[in-house]
Amino acid sequence: MGRRHAVVIGGSFSGLAAGRVLSEFFDHVTVLDRDTFPEGSQDRAGVPQARHVHGLLVRGLIEYEKLFPGFERLAIGKGATFHDHTLDFAVLRPQGWQPRYRSDLKFLSASRELIESCVREVFRQIPNVEVRQRTTVTGLRVGPGGPRCVGVLIPAGSSGGREDIEADLVVDASGSVSRAPLWLQQAGITPPRETIVDPLAGYASRWFQGPAQWPADWWWWAGAYIRRRPDDLVEANFQLKEHNRWHLTLSGFNRQYPPTRERDFMGLLSRLRSPVIAEMVRLMEPISPVYSNRAIRNRWRHYERWNPGCSGFIAIGDAYVTYNPVYAQGMTAAALSAQLLRTCLNRYDTSNPELPRAFHLAQAAIQHDPWMLSAGVDLRFPFTAGEKPLAIRLFNLYLEGIGIAARGDSSVRRTLVEVAQLVRPLSDLFQTGIAARVAVGALKEGLRRLSARLRNESPARIPAMPPPVVSARTDPGEFTRAALS
Ligand SMILES: Cc1cc2nc3c(=O)[nH]c(=O)nc-3n(C[C@H](O)[C@H](O)[C@H](O)COP(=O)(O)OP(=O)(O)OC[C@H]3O[C@@H](n4cnc5c(N)ncnc54)[C@H](O)[C@@H]3O)c2cc1C
Repeated sequence: MGRRHAVVIGGSFSGLAAGRVLSEFFDHVTVLDRDTFPEGSQDRAGVPQARHVHGLLVRGLIEYEKLFPGFERLAIGKGATFHDHTLDFAVLRPQGWQPRYRSDLKFLSASRELIESCVREVFRQIPNVEVRQRTTVTGLRVGPGGPRCVGVLIPAGSSGGREDIEADLVVDASGSVSRAPLWLQQAGITPPRETIVDPLAGYASRWFQGPAQWPADWWWWAGAYIRRRPDDLVEANFQLKEHNRWHLTLSGFNRQYPPTRERDFMGLLSRLRSPVIAEMVRLMEPISPVYSNRAIRNRWRHYERWNPGCSGFIAIGDAYVTYNPVYAQGMTAAALSAQLLRTCLNRYDTSNPELPRAFHLAQAAIQHDPWMLSAGVDLRFPFTAGEKPLAIRLFNLYLEGIGIAARGDSSVRRTLVEVAQLVRPLSDLFQTGIAARVAVGALKEGLRRLSARLRNESPARIPAMPPPVVSARTDPGEFTRAALS
Protein backbone atom coordinates (compact mmCIF):
# COMPACT_ATOMS: atom_id res chain seq x y z
CA MET A 1 0.00 0.00 0.00
CA GLY A 2 1.33 3.50 -0.92
CA ARG A 3 1.73 6.40 1.45
CA ARG A 4 -1.59 7.21 3.04
CA HIS A 5 -2.68 10.84 2.89
CA ALA A 6 -5.39 12.74 4.79
CA VAL A 7 -6.59 16.20 3.75
CA VAL A 8 -8.26 18.55 6.21
CA ILE A 9 -10.31 21.52 4.91
CA GLY A 10 -9.84 24.38 7.43
CA GLY A 11 -7.00 25.07 9.85
CA SER A 12 -8.90 26.43 12.83
CA PHE A 13 -9.67 24.54 16.07
CA SER A 14 -11.39 21.50 14.62
CA GLY A 15 -9.00 21.28 11.65
CA LEU A 16 -5.91 21.39 13.82
CA ALA A 17 -7.33 19.05 16.46
CA ALA A 18 -8.41 16.54 13.78
CA GLY A 19 -5.09 16.98 11.95
CA ARG A 20 -3.21 16.20 15.15
CA VAL A 21 -5.09 12.90 15.56
CA LEU A 22 -4.82 11.99 11.85
CA SER A 23 -1.02 12.48 12.01
CA GLU A 24 -0.90 9.39 14.27
CA PHE A 25 -2.59 7.17 11.64
CA PHE A 26 -1.69 8.59 8.21
CA ASP A 27 1.74 8.98 6.64
CA HIS A 28 1.00 12.57 5.73
CA VAL A 29 -1.66 15.15 6.68
CA THR A 30 -2.30 18.31 4.66
CA VAL A 31 -4.35 21.09 6.24
CA LEU A 32 -5.73 23.59 3.69
CA ASP A 33 -6.99 27.00 4.74
CA ARG A 34 -8.15 29.94 2.65
CA ASP A 35 -6.64 32.34 5.18
CA THR A 36 -3.17 33.72 5.93
CA PHE A 37 -2.26 32.81 9.50
CA PRO A 38 -0.69 35.61 11.56
CA GLU A 39 2.61 34.86 13.29
CA GLY A 40 1.29 35.82 16.74
CA SER A 41 -2.11 36.17 18.39
CA GLN A 42 -3.73 38.49 15.85
CA ASP A 43 -7.09 38.63 14.23
CA ARG A 44 -7.59 36.92 10.82
CA ALA A 45 -10.28 37.26 8.17
CA GLY A 46 -11.36 33.59 7.98
CA VAL A 47 -12.79 33.54 11.50
CA PRO A 48 -14.78 36.79 11.94
CA GLN A 49 -16.26 35.36 15.16
CA ALA A 50 -12.89 35.93 16.89
CA ARG A 51 -13.88 39.59 17.32
CA HIS A 52 -16.39 38.46 19.94
CA VAL A 53 -15.84 37.09 23.41
CA HIS A 54 -14.58 33.51 23.32
CA GLY A 55 -14.37 31.55 26.57
CA LEU A 56 -12.80 28.11 26.63
CA LEU A 57 -14.71 25.68 28.86
CA VAL A 58 -12.81 23.80 31.58
CA ARG A 59 -13.17 20.56 29.60
CA GLY A 60 -11.78 22.29 26.53
CA LEU A 61 -8.67 23.39 28.40
CA ILE A 62 -8.11 19.80 29.56
CA GLU A 63 -8.60 18.37 26.05
CA TYR A 64 -6.38 20.91 24.26
CA GLU A 65 -3.56 20.20 26.71
CA LYS A 66 -3.98 16.47 26.01
CA LEU A 67 -4.05 16.98 22.23
CA PHE A 68 -1.27 19.56 22.19
CA PRO A 69 1.03 18.91 25.17
CA GLY A 70 2.67 22.16 26.29
CA PHE A 71 -0.35 24.23 25.22
CA GLU A 72 -0.95 25.71 28.70
CA ARG A 73 2.67 26.63 29.26
CA LEU A 74 2.77 28.34 25.87
CA ALA A 75 -0.44 30.24 26.65
CA ILE A 76 1.01 31.50 29.92
CA GLY A 77 4.14 32.61 28.06
CA LYS A 78 1.92 34.70 25.76
CA GLY A 79 0.19 36.40 28.69
CA ALA A 80 -2.77 34.11 29.48
CA THR A 81 -3.82 33.75 33.12
CA PHE A 82 -6.20 31.49 35.02
CA HIS A 83 -9.06 32.17 37.41
CA ASP A 84 -11.76 30.38 39.34
CA HIS A 85 -14.98 31.42 37.61
CA THR A 86 -17.29 30.87 40.57
CA LEU A 87 -15.04 32.92 42.84
CA ASP A 88 -13.41 35.63 40.71
CA PHE A 89 -16.15 36.30 38.15
CA ALA A 90 -19.46 38.02 39.00
CA VAL A 91 -22.55 36.48 37.40
CA LEU A 92 -25.99 38.05 37.65
CA ARG A 93 -28.56 35.41 36.74
CA PRO A 94 -32.28 36.10 36.20
CA GLN A 95 -32.86 35.05 39.84
CA GLY A 96 -30.06 37.21 41.28
CA TRP A 97 -26.29 37.18 41.80
CA GLN A 98 -24.69 33.77 41.72
CA PRO A 99 -23.30 32.94 45.18
CA ARG A 100 -19.51 32.83 45.31
CA TYR A 101 -17.64 29.66 46.14
CA ARG A 102 -14.31 28.01 45.40
CA SER A 103 -14.85 25.46 42.61
CA ASP A 104 -11.19 24.54 42.12
CA LEU A 105 -11.98 24.45 38.40
CA LYS A 106 -9.34 26.20 36.34
CA PHE A 107 -10.61 28.72 33.77
CA LEU A 108 -8.39 30.29 31.13
CA SER A 109 -8.38 34.08 30.68
CA ALA A 110 -7.16 34.43 27.08
CA SER A 111 -8.43 35.68 23.75
CA ARG A 112 -9.48 33.27 21.03
CA GLU A 113 -6.55 34.54 18.92
CA LEU A 114 -4.10 33.58 21.66
CA ILE A 115 -5.63 30.14 22.17
CA GLU A 116 -5.62 29.45 18.43
CA SER A 117 -2.03 30.66 18.00
CA CYS A 118 -0.85 28.27 20.77
CA VAL A 119 -2.66 25.31 19.20
CA ARG A 120 -1.17 26.21 15.82
CA GLU A 121 2.32 26.54 17.24
CA VAL A 122 2.29 23.07 18.83
CA PHE A 123 0.62 21.62 15.71
CA ARG A 124 3.39 22.90 13.43
CA GLN A 125 5.94 20.88 15.40
CA ILE A 126 4.32 17.59 14.30
CA PRO A 127 6.69 16.18 11.64
CA ASN A 128 4.23 14.66 9.13
CA VAL A 129 1.80 17.58 8.81
CA GLU A 130 1.75 20.44 6.35
CA VAL A 131 -0.34 23.62 6.53
CA ARG A 132 -1.13 25.23 3.17
CA GLN A 133 -2.38 28.78 3.61
CA ARG A 134 -4.27 30.88 1.04
CA THR A 135 -5.71 27.68 -0.41
CA THR A 136 -9.48 27.70 -0.83
CA VAL A 137 -11.13 24.37 -1.43
CA THR A 138 -13.82 24.69 -4.11
CA GLY A 139 -15.11 21.15 -4.38
CA LEU A 140 -14.77 17.47 -3.56
CA ARG A 141 -13.48 14.84 -5.93
CA VAL A 142 -15.79 11.88 -5.72
CA GLY A 143 -15.02 8.56 -7.38
CA PRO A 144 -17.22 5.57 -8.04
CA GLY A 145 -17.61 2.65 -5.65
CA GLY A 146 -19.84 3.60 -2.86
CA PRO A 147 -19.57 6.61 -3.63
CA ARG A 148 -16.11 7.46 -2.29
CA CYS A 149 -14.45 10.84 -1.76
CA VAL A 150 -10.94 10.66 -3.21
CA GLY A 151 -9.72 14.22 -2.86
CA VAL A 152 -10.50 17.94 -2.97
CA LEU A 153 -10.46 20.57 -5.70
CA ILE A 154 -8.58 23.83 -5.45
CA PRO A 155 -8.16 26.65 -8.01
CA ALA A 156 -5.17 26.14 -10.32
CA GLY A 157 -3.14 29.32 -10.79
CA SER A 158 -4.75 32.21 -12.65
CA SER A 159 -6.15 30.12 -15.51
CA GLY A 160 -9.53 29.66 -13.81
CA GLY A 161 -9.06 25.88 -13.87
CA ARG A 162 -9.02 23.53 -10.90
CA GLU A 163 -6.42 21.11 -9.67
CA ASP A 164 -7.08 18.24 -7.35
CA ILE A 165 -5.31 16.97 -4.29
CA GLU A 166 -5.73 13.25 -3.80
CA ALA A 167 -6.58 11.92 -0.39
CA ASP A 168 -7.47 8.65 1.29
CA LEU A 169 -9.59 10.60 3.78
CA VAL A 170 -11.04 14.13 3.49
CA VAL A 171 -12.07 15.89 6.70
CA ASP A 172 -14.36 18.89 6.44
CA ALA A 173 -13.38 21.29 9.23
CA SER A 174 -14.32 24.45 7.36
CA GLY A 175 -16.69 25.69 10.05
CA SER A 176 -20.34 26.73 10.00
CA VAL A 177 -19.86 28.24 6.51
CA SER A 178 -19.00 24.78 5.15
CA ARG A 179 -19.90 24.34 1.48
CA ALA A 180 -19.51 20.57 1.63
CA PRO A 181 -23.30 19.96 1.37
CA LEU A 182 -23.27 21.91 -1.90
CA TRP A 183 -20.14 20.12 -3.18
CA LEU A 184 -21.72 16.76 -2.39
CA GLN A 185 -24.81 17.79 -4.32
CA GLN A 186 -22.64 18.86 -7.28
CA ALA A 187 -21.10 15.37 -7.17
CA GLY A 188 -24.56 13.84 -7.42
CA ILE A 189 -24.87 12.88 -3.73
CA THR A 190 -27.84 14.01 -1.67
CA PRO A 191 -26.40 16.00 1.28
CA PRO A 192 -27.48 15.27 4.86
CA ARG A 193 -30.58 16.90 6.32
CA GLU A 194 -30.06 19.59 8.91
CA THR A 195 -31.81 20.82 12.05
CA ILE A 196 -31.77 24.53 12.81
CA VAL A 197 -32.71 26.03 16.16
CA ASP A 198 -32.56 29.78 15.79
CA PRO A 199 -33.04 32.13 18.77
CA LEU A 200 -32.62 35.11 16.39
CA ALA A 201 -29.58 36.35 18.28
CA GLY A 202 -26.88 38.92 17.56
CA TYR A 203 -23.58 40.02 19.13
CA ALA A 204 -21.83 43.39 19.37
CA SER A 205 -18.35 43.51 20.90
CA ARG A 206 -15.54 45.89 21.78
CA TRP A 207 -12.04 45.65 23.27
CA PHE A 208 -10.82 47.77 26.21
CA GLN A 209 -7.48 48.32 27.93
CA GLY A 210 -7.82 47.62 31.66
CA PRO A 211 -6.83 50.10 34.39
CA ALA A 212 -3.32 50.18 35.89
CA GLN A 213 -4.91 49.85 39.35
CA TRP A 214 -7.84 47.53 40.05
CA PRO A 215 -10.06 48.72 42.96
CA ALA A 216 -9.13 46.61 46.00
CA ASP A 217 -12.73 45.80 46.96
CA TRP A 218 -13.78 44.65 43.48
CA TRP A 219 -13.34 40.90 43.94
CA TRP A 220 -14.59 40.21 40.37
CA TRP A 221 -11.14 40.81 38.85
CA ALA A 222 -11.70 38.18 36.07
CA GLY A 223 -14.91 39.77 34.77
CA ALA A 224 -18.67 40.05 35.04
CA TYR A 225 -21.65 38.60 33.21
CA ILE A 226 -25.11 40.11 33.34
CA ARG A 227 -27.54 37.54 32.03
CA ARG A 228 -30.85 38.62 30.63
CA ARG A 229 -34.31 38.10 32.06
CA PRO A 230 -37.16 37.58 29.59
CA ASP A 231 -38.00 41.30 29.53
CA ASP A 232 -34.41 42.60 29.09
CA LEU A 233 -33.09 43.63 25.72
CA VAL A 234 -29.57 42.29 25.98
CA GLU A 235 -27.06 40.52 28.18
CA ALA A 236 -23.43 41.53 28.69
CA ASN A 237 -20.31 39.41 29.11
CA PHE A 238 -17.10 41.25 30.07
CA GLN A 239 -13.96 39.14 30.38
CA LEU A 240 -10.34 39.73 31.27
CA LYS A 241 -7.96 38.55 28.55
CA GLU A 242 -4.16 38.64 28.19
CA HIS A 243 -2.11 41.81 28.91
CA ASN A 244 -4.90 43.42 30.92
CA ARG A 245 -7.06 43.70 27.80
CA TRP A 246 -10.79 43.24 28.30
CA HIS A 247 -13.37 41.94 25.88
CA LEU A 248 -17.00 43.03 26.15
CA THR A 249 -19.78 41.34 24.21
CA LEU A 250 -23.41 42.41 24.30
CA SER A 251 -25.85 39.84 22.97
CA GLY A 252 -29.53 40.11 22.21
CA PHE A 253 -32.15 37.53 21.33
CA ASN A 254 -35.40 37.66 19.35
CA ARG A 255 -33.93 40.20 16.88
CA GLN A 256 -33.18 42.58 19.75
CA TYR A 257 -29.72 43.09 18.27
CA PRO A 258 -27.34 45.10 20.44
CA PRO A 259 -26.30 48.50 19.05
CA THR A 260 -23.24 48.67 16.83
CA ARG A 261 -22.74 52.48 16.83
CA GLU A 262 -20.08 53.29 19.43
CA ARG A 263 -22.17 55.92 21.22
CA ASP A 264 -25.22 53.67 21.46
CA PHE A 265 -23.13 50.66 22.52
CA MET A 266 -21.52 52.64 25.36
CA GLY A 267 -24.82 54.29 26.29
CA LEU A 268 -26.54 50.96 26.73
CA LEU A 269 -24.09 49.87 29.46
CA SER A 270 -25.63 52.16 32.05
CA ARG A 271 -29.10 50.74 31.29
CA LEU A 272 -28.17 47.12 32.03
CA ARG A 273 -29.74 45.40 35.06
CA SER A 274 -26.67 46.19 37.15
CA PRO A 275 -24.29 49.16 36.85
CA VAL A 276 -21.24 46.96 37.51
CA ILE A 277 -20.03 46.71 33.89
CA ALA A 278 -20.59 50.43 33.22
CA GLU A 279 -18.46 51.16 36.31
CA MET A 280 -15.68 48.84 35.15
CA VAL A 281 -15.67 50.38 31.68
CA ARG A 282 -15.40 53.86 33.21
CA LEU A 283 -11.88 52.89 34.38
CA MET A 284 -10.85 51.60 30.93
CA GLU A 285 -9.92 52.85 27.47
CA PRO A 286 -11.71 51.52 24.37
CA ILE A 287 -9.09 50.11 21.97
CA SER A 288 -11.25 48.83 19.10
CA PRO A 289 -14.34 49.70 17.13
CA VAL A 290 -17.60 47.91 17.89
CA TYR A 291 -17.91 44.68 15.89
CA SER A 292 -21.15 42.95 15.09
CA ASN A 293 -22.11 39.34 14.29
CA ARG A 294 -25.54 37.95 13.52
CA ALA A 295 -24.48 34.52 12.26
CA ILE A 296 -25.60 32.97 15.52
CA ARG A 297 -27.77 29.91 15.72
CA ASN A 298 -27.66 26.17 16.40
CA ARG A 299 -27.28 23.99 13.35
CA TRP A 300 -26.80 20.23 13.17
CA ARG A 301 -25.92 18.67 9.82
CA HIS A 302 -27.05 15.09 10.32
CA TYR A 303 -24.16 13.19 8.74
CA GLU A 304 -24.88 10.42 11.26
CA ARG A 305 -28.24 9.72 9.55
CA TRP A 306 -26.93 10.28 6.05
CA ASN A 307 -27.76 7.54 3.57
CA PRO A 308 -25.97 6.21 1.61
CA GLY A 309 -23.24 8.63 2.78
CA CYS A 310 -19.87 8.89 1.15
CA SER A 311 -16.87 6.86 2.26
CA GLY A 312 -13.59 8.72 2.57
CA PHE A 313 -15.37 11.85 3.86
CA ILE A 314 -16.12 13.07 7.39
CA ALA A 315 -17.29 16.37 8.85
CA ILE A 316 -16.15 17.66 12.23
CA GLY A 317 -16.47 20.76 14.45
CA ASP A 318 -18.74 23.59 13.33
CA ALA A 319 -19.04 21.97 9.88
CA TYR A 320 -20.94 19.19 11.67
CA VAL A 321 -22.71 21.00 14.49
CA THR A 322 -22.71 24.71 15.36
CA TYR A 323 -23.84 25.95 18.75
CA ASN A 324 -25.27 29.24 19.90
CA PRO A 325 -21.99 30.77 21.16
CA VAL A 326 -23.60 32.20 24.30
CA TYR A 327 -22.91 28.80 25.88
CA ALA A 328 -19.22 28.82 24.83
CA GLN A 329 -19.07 25.22 23.67
CA GLY A 330 -17.72 25.29 20.09
CA MET A 331 -13.97 25.06 20.72
CA THR A 332 -14.46 22.36 23.34
CA ALA A 333 -16.86 20.37 21.15
CA ALA A 334 -14.24 20.42 18.36
CA ALA A 335 -11.62 18.91 20.69
CA LEU A 336 -14.05 16.24 21.93
CA SER A 337 -14.83 15.17 18.37
CA ALA A 338 -11.13 15.00 17.49
CA GLN A 339 -10.46 12.75 20.49
CA LEU A 340 -13.30 10.55 19.34
CA LEU A 341 -11.76 10.32 15.87
CA ARG A 342 -8.73 8.72 17.52
CA THR A 343 -10.97 6.12 19.19
CA CYS A 344 -12.57 5.32 15.83
CA LEU A 345 -9.23 5.13 14.01
CA ASN A 346 -7.99 2.70 16.63
CA ARG A 347 -10.96 0.50 15.80
CA TYR A 348 -11.24 0.97 12.02
CA ASP A 349 -8.38 0.88 9.54
CA THR A 350 -7.81 4.18 7.69
CA SER A 351 -9.10 2.59 4.46
CA ASN A 352 -12.18 0.98 6.01
CA PRO A 353 -15.25 2.36 4.14
CA GLU A 354 -17.26 2.05 7.39
CA LEU A 355 -15.04 4.59 9.19
CA PRO A 356 -17.10 7.73 8.30
CA ARG A 357 -20.41 6.18 9.34
CA ALA A 358 -18.96 4.85 12.61
CA PHE A 359 -17.34 8.21 13.36
CA HIS A 360 -20.46 10.27 12.58
CA LEU A 361 -22.61 8.01 14.77
CA ALA A 362 -20.18 8.27 17.68
CA GLN A 363 -19.88 12.02 17.14
CA ALA A 364 -23.66 12.40 17.29
CA ALA A 365 -23.64 10.68 20.69
CA ILE A 366 -20.83 12.83 22.09
CA GLN A 367 -22.42 16.07 20.84
CA HIS A 368 -25.77 15.24 22.45
CA ASP A 369 -25.02 16.99 25.77
CA PRO A 370 -23.70 20.25 24.26
CA TRP A 371 -26.67 20.29 21.86
CA MET A 372 -29.18 19.94 24.71
CA LEU A 373 -27.37 22.63 26.70
CA SER A 374 -27.48 25.01 23.74
CA ALA A 375 -30.27 24.30 21.24
CA GLY A 376 -32.36 22.53 23.91
CA VAL A 377 -32.10 25.50 26.25
CA ASP A 378 -32.75 28.05 23.46
CA LEU A 379 -36.02 26.27 22.76
CA ARG A 380 -37.36 27.54 26.08
CA PHE A 381 -37.92 30.92 24.42
CA PRO A 382 -41.28 31.29 22.70
CA PHE A 383 -39.58 33.13 19.82
CA THR A 384 -36.96 30.45 19.04
CA ALA A 385 -37.53 28.90 15.65
CA GLY A 386 -37.45 25.09 15.86
CA GLU A 387 -39.52 22.11 16.96
CA LYS A 388 -40.53 22.04 20.65
CA PRO A 389 -41.55 18.51 21.64
CA LEU A 390 -42.90 17.80 25.14
CA ALA A 391 -39.58 16.28 26.21
CA ILE A 392 -37.82 19.61 25.51
CA ARG A 393 -40.45 21.57 27.45
CA LEU A 394 -40.07 19.24 30.44
CA PHE A 395 -36.27 19.46 30.19
CA ASN A 396 -36.40 23.26 30.36
CA LEU A 397 -38.86 23.20 33.24
CA TYR A 398 -36.49 20.94 35.15
CA LEU A 399 -33.50 23.18 34.30
CA GLU A 400 -35.40 26.14 35.70
CA GLY A 401 -35.85 24.14 38.90
CA ILE A 402 -32.13 23.37 38.93
CA GLY A 403 -31.34 27.09 38.59
CA ILE A 404 -33.59 27.88 41.57
CA ALA A 405 -32.21 25.03 43.73
CA ALA A 406 -28.62 25.99 42.83
CA ARG A 407 -29.00 29.34 44.59
CA GLY A 408 -29.40 27.79 48.02
CA ASP A 409 -27.76 24.39 47.57
CA SER A 410 -24.03 24.15 46.96
CA SER A 411 -24.18 20.54 45.78
CA VAL A 412 -26.69 21.36 43.01
CA ARG A 413 -24.67 24.48 42.13
CA ARG A 414 -21.44 22.53 41.78
CA THR A 415 -23.07 19.83 39.64
CA LEU A 416 -24.66 22.45 37.40
CA VAL A 417 -21.38 24.30 36.83
CA GLU A 418 -19.50 21.07 36.12
CA VAL A 419 -22.16 19.93 33.65
CA ALA A 420 -22.12 23.32 31.90
CA GLN A 421 -18.32 23.10 31.70
CA LEU A 422 -18.73 19.62 30.13
CA VAL A 423 -16.60 17.95 32.80
CA ARG A 424 -19.62 15.89 33.88
CA PRO A 425 -22.38 14.34 31.75
CA LEU A 426 -25.77 16.02 31.53
CA SER A 427 -27.35 12.89 33.02
CA ASP A 428 -25.75 13.82 36.38
CA LEU A 429 -28.36 16.58 36.69
CA PHE A 430 -31.05 13.90 36.75
CA GLN A 431 -29.60 11.75 39.54
CA THR A 432 -32.09 11.00 42.31
CA GLY A 433 -30.17 13.05 44.90
CA ILE A 434 -30.17 16.15 42.68
CA ALA A 435 -33.80 15.66 41.60
CA ALA A 436 -34.89 15.56 45.27
CA ARG A 437 -32.99 18.76 45.99
CA VAL A 438 -34.60 20.41 42.95
CA ALA A 439 -38.05 19.46 44.28
CA VAL A 440 -37.25 20.96 47.71
CA GLY A 441 -35.79 24.09 46.06
CA ALA A 442 -38.88 24.52 43.87
CA LEU A 443 -41.15 24.19 46.91
CA LYS A 444 -39.17 26.80 48.87
CA GLU A 445 -39.14 29.15 45.87
CA GLY A 446 -42.90 28.75 45.46
CA LEU A 447 -43.41 29.67 49.11
CA ARG A 448 -40.98 32.62 48.82
CA ARG A 449 -42.80 33.98 45.75
CA LEU A 450 -46.18 33.55 47.46
CA SER A 451 -45.00 35.42 50.54
CA ALA A 452 -43.42 38.18 48.35
CA ARG A 453 -46.73 38.54 46.52
CA LEU A 454 -48.65 38.75 49.81
CA ARG A 455 -46.21 41.47 50.96
CA ASN A 456 -46.51 43.21 47.57
CA GLU A 457 -42.72 43.02 46.92
CA SER A 458 -41.43 43.82 43.45
CA PRO A 459 -39.89 40.72 41.84
CA ALA A 460 -37.57 42.90 39.72
CA ARG A 461 -35.40 43.98 42.69
CA ILE A 462 -31.74 43.09 42.12
CA PRO A 463 -29.99 42.02 45.32
CA ALA A 464 -26.65 43.58 46.25
CA MET A 465 -23.54 41.91 44.89
CA PRO A 466 -22.19 39.06 46.99
CA PRO A 467 -19.56 40.42 49.39
CA PRO A 468 -15.89 39.46 49.10
CA VAL A 469 -15.55 36.23 51.09
CA VAL A 470 -12.31 36.73 52.96
CA SER A 471 -11.82 33.05 53.80
CA ALA A 472 -12.21 32.15 50.12
CA ARG A 473 -9.95 34.87 48.79
CA THR A 474 -8.35 33.83 45.60
CA ASP A 475 -4.69 34.08 44.71
CA PRO A 476 -4.60 35.21 41.05
CA GLY A 477 -1.30 33.43 40.42
CA GLU A 478 -2.20 30.12 42.07
CA PHE A 479 -3.27 28.15 38.97
CA THR A 480 -0.54 29.68 36.82
CA ARG A 481 2.22 28.59 39.23
CA ALA A 482 0.70 25.11 39.44
CA ALA A 483 0.62 24.86 35.62
CA LEU A 484 4.27 25.85 35.37
CA SER A 485 5.54 23.63 38.16
C1 LIG B 1 -19.83 35.18 17.72
C2 LIG B 1 -19.26 33.85 18.15
C3 LIG B 1 -18.75 33.69 19.43
C4 LIG B 1 -18.25 32.44 19.83
N1 LIG B 1 -17.84 32.26 21.13
C5 LIG B 1 -17.38 31.05 21.52
C6 LIG B 1 -16.95 30.84 22.85
O1 LIG B 1 -17.05 31.71 23.72
N2 LIG B 1 -16.42 29.61 23.17
C7 LIG B 1 -16.34 28.60 22.24
O2 LIG B 1 -15.83 27.51 22.58
N3 LIG B 1 -16.76 28.78 20.97
C8 LIG B 1 -17.27 29.96 20.59
N4 LIG B 1 -17.69 30.12 19.30
C9 LIG B 1 -17.60 28.98 18.37
C10 LIG B 1 -16.18 28.83 17.84
O3 LIG B 1 -15.78 30.00 17.17
C11 LIG B 1 -16.07 27.60 16.92
O4 LIG B 1 -16.80 26.54 17.45
C12 LIG B 1 -14.61 27.20 16.81
O5 LIG B 1 -13.91 28.18 16.10
C13 LIG B 1 -14.38 25.85 16.14
O6 LIG B 1 -14.75 25.95 14.83
P1 LIG B 1 -14.13 25.22 13.58
O7 LIG B 1 -12.68 25.00 13.64
O8 LIG B 1 -15.00 24.04 13.32
O9 LIG B 1 -14.49 26.35 12.49
P2 LIG B 1 -13.91 27.81 12.35
O10 LIG B 1 -13.22 28.26 13.56
O11 LIG B 1 -15.01 28.65 11.84
O12 LIG B 1 -12.80 27.65 11.25
C14 LIG B 1 -13.06 27.27 9.92
C15 LIG B 1 -11.74 27.40 9.14
O13 LIG B 1 -11.95 26.93 7.82
C16 LIG B 1 -11.41 27.84 6.89
N5 LIG B 1 -12.19 27.66 5.66
C17 LIG B 1 -13.52 27.89 5.48
N6 LIG B 1 -13.88 27.56 4.22
C18 LIG B 1 -12.77 27.10 3.61
C19 LIG B 1 -12.51 26.61 2.30
N7 LIG B 1 -13.48 26.50 1.38
N8 LIG B 1 -11.25 26.24 1.98
C20 LIG B 1 -10.24 26.34 2.90
N9 LIG B 1 -10.44 26.81 4.15
C21 LIG B 1 -11.69 27.17 4.50
C22 LIG B 1 -11.55 29.20 7.55
O14 LIG B 1 -10.61 30.14 7.05
C23 LIG B 1 -11.27 28.84 9.03
O15 LIG B 1 -9.90 28.91 9.33
C24 LIG B 1 -18.23 31.36 18.89
C25 LIG B 1 -18.75 31.53 17.60
C26 LIG B 1 -19.28 32.75 17.24
C27 LIG B 1 -19.89 32.89 15.85
